[in-house]
Amino acid sequence: MKLLEERIRTDGIIREGGVLKVDSFLNHQMDVKLFQEMGKEFLRLYKDCGVTKILTIEASGIGIACVAAQFFDCPVIFAKKNKTKNIAGDVYTSKVESFTHGKVYDIIVAKQFLLPEDRVLIIDDFLANGSALQGLINLVRDAGATLVGAGIAVEKAFQPGGDLIRGMGVRVESLAKIKSMSVENGVEFC
Ligand code: 5GP
Repeated sequence: MKLLEERIRTDGIIREGGVLKVDSFLNHQMDVKLFQEMGKEFLRLYKDCGVTKILTIEASGIGIACVAAQFFDCPVIFAKKNKTKNIAGDVYTSKVESFTHGKVYDIIVAKQFLLPEDRVLIIDDFLANGSALQGLINLVRDAGATLVGAGIAVEKAFQPGGDLIRGMGVRVESLAKIKSMSVENGVEFC
């Protein structure tokens, strides 16, 4: 998606260690008009898939997922990052290793919101090593729901997540795919 690529080029900040900061339009301040164009593109890609729920993960995926959901006319569920040791109640749970913070945490979704008859589209801001996406896929599978695919804003294709998840037979559509990036040379898209 050219619009998102242009925005990454002009406003993205590359940090050492392969981290792209997009706080001015995606991860902190949010450009809702841009999110709308992203939502339309996700709909174009997945419109014939009978999506009944969009699943994302707190916090950065929520804004993108909510705007997209207006085009799909379906609810959004966000997986919560569990902060307590005890996982209580009727929940599906999975482990995720954070790429940006380097720690492992549990994500949870209440069973009542993810049903076997659901057709789920997962939406997230970044795909790097694929741990967040893998965790969300586990929740969908545990619920016995159908996974339609994943819609990602920014895929860092130089990290293994995309190949890993596609290798599992999951459809992954990314709006901007970064082939390489460095502080010296900037961003190159696929
Ligand atoms: P993964 O689990 O695929 O390794 O990483 C995905 C999650 O890590 C995303 O939900 C996102 O929050 C965060 N993330 C990974 N790489 C980056 C990055 O380069 N920039 C930002 N802002 N977040 C990232």
